[in-house]
Amino acid sequence: MKEEILSKYPNLKKVSELKEAFWLNPKIIPYEEAAPAINLNTAAIDDAEKRLEKFAPLIEKVFPETLPSHGIIESPIKEINKMKNKLQELYDFNSSGRLLLKMDSHLAIAGSVKARGGIYEVLKYAETLAREKGLLKEDDDYSILAEQKYRDFFGKYKIQVGSTGNLGLSIGITSAALGFNVIVHMSADAKQWKKDLLRSKGANVVEYDSDFSKAVEEGRKASDQDPMSYFVDDENSMNLFLGYSVAARRLDKQLNKMNIIIDQDHPLFVYLPCGVGGAPGGITYGLKSVYKDNVHCFFVEPTHAPSMLIGMATGLHNDISVQDLGIDGKTHADGLAVGRPSKLVGKMMDYILGGVITLDDYKLYGYMRYLHERENINIEPSACAAFEGFVKLETTEEGKGYIKEHKLKNKMNNAVHIVWATGGSLVPEEINKQFLTTRLRR
Ligand SMILES: *Cc1c(COP(=O)(O)O)cnc(C)c1O
Repeated sequence: MKEEILSKYPNLKKVSELKEAFWLNPKIIPYEEAAPAINLNTAAIDDAEKRLEKFAPLIEKVFPETLPSHGIIESPIKEINKMKNKLQELYDFNSSGRLLLKMDSHLAIAGSVKARGGIYEVLKYAETLAREKGLLKEDDDYSILAEQKYRDFFGKYKIQVGSTGNLGLSIGITSAALGFNVIVHMSADAKQWKKDLLRSKGANVVEYDSDFSKAVEEGRKASDQDPMSYFVDDENSMNLFLGYSVAARRLDKQLNKMNIIIDQDHPLFVYLPCGVGGAPGGITYGLKSVYKDNVHCFFVEPTHAPSMLIGMATGLHNDISVQDLGIDGKTHADGLAVGRPSKLVGKMMDYILGGVITLDDYKLYGYMRYLHERENINIEPSACAAFEGFVKLETTEEGKGYIKEHKLKNKMNNAVHIVWATGGSLVPEEINKQFLTTRLRR
């Protein structure tokens, strides 16, 4: 298997040897040409955005932590100059652009980027059920869904999901809060604190001795046998994808408030940690629809789980797994520990993604420590992968090649770089301390 793949795709040799890589997407084309090839209309983003606005009064009621934002779940963005200086010192480069941190690590309710897709998916399902049964009308105030009568109604239904962590938290917490029966199927490597937290919120957690794909498979099976059960499919869910995509317009508003304009002379670079692809893919799709050719998006994966890289580089998408290349899929970035990428997402990224970057695990803890020390911000190891995108764009031949190819060289003074911090605020203090003292060998 491995030899066959490598003889056909020799550029994956380095990847199969677990060496860090920067794969530039050879298929990227101007946005106006790419858009028609993507099997989705941007009106779908409008629809998702409107739905989240309609649900805001309900969210505000059910999750009082969202009171200050009136039920809109959105994260802060922050310029991180001290971190930028540290990275420049460390890797001996000088970036003339600005470095910002998009803190989805601090999103309400779920403490990770999964608050975007996961919560949207549950809300959409709740709406569909209530509308089908004539219990909710288009122009109703959706906050009525917090009433006991609706909770009793949702209590007749089940939502199930397979997860190693953050998706389970997001789906589990939201479903339980609306009154659904929710079952989170968790693999052996899922963290104990996540199971505890889920149970404390009223979710059912089923534990497996086996790995993640087994948990998903069992979860799906259990759900398929039950007509009152809905399975959240991380790999193929358009709802998750659309929930993520809404991030882009909100980001644009935030940047405007900071007097940051993105246009032909002011390019935007965005670095996103990638697991199965849904979160970074949805956000990228949204960003391209807003900024078109003025935004350049890169995914970042661990060297031990480069699933999206191999899926896109071969065009095989979900027909190839990292195991097919002899890669074990084991990484300290538990949110990114995915062996097989989403085909739905990979196909949509084919003509708009800049590339995929991989990094060694030991770097995750370094980035985590520097961010803690320099900026007093705590994010989880998976989220730290994004820093490698910025470093590699600025320091590698591939990065320089991309800048040259896209005629960006004389615009880099005006560039804005966004590191997308995808999770961290729910990590218990004690575990966070352990992370901060973890040092892996190179
Ligand atoms: C899930 C997750 C990602 C990646 O999202 P995918 O949809 O799996 O690609 C990145 N970072 C964190 C912290 C996550 O939990």
